[in-house]
Amino acid sequence: MTEQKLDAAAGLAAVLNDGGYVLGDIATKLTCTEANALAEFVAAWITPEFAQEFLAAHAEGDDEGDLHYVGEDGEVHERS
Ligand SMILES: [Zn+2]
Repeated sequence: MTEQKLDAAAGLAAVLNDGGYVLGDIATKLTCTEANALAEFVAAWITPEFAQEFLAAHAEGDDEGDLHYVGEDGEVHERS
């Protein structure tokens, strides 16, 4: 990875980690595939816990049948 790419990724991670507002704002606007990709980035660059919080926020916007839909039992029904 070039230094430019590394700097860009580190800068993005810093912004995303800034209070979590950015991720909270966009969580329900992303598709499940986009959310998973961003969660992987967050887990790698920030913390896995933060990635889980983001996915939980995203799941609130999912409908039944969607990847992260939280059912009546409160469980995340993530399909792989
Ligand atoms: Zn989803």
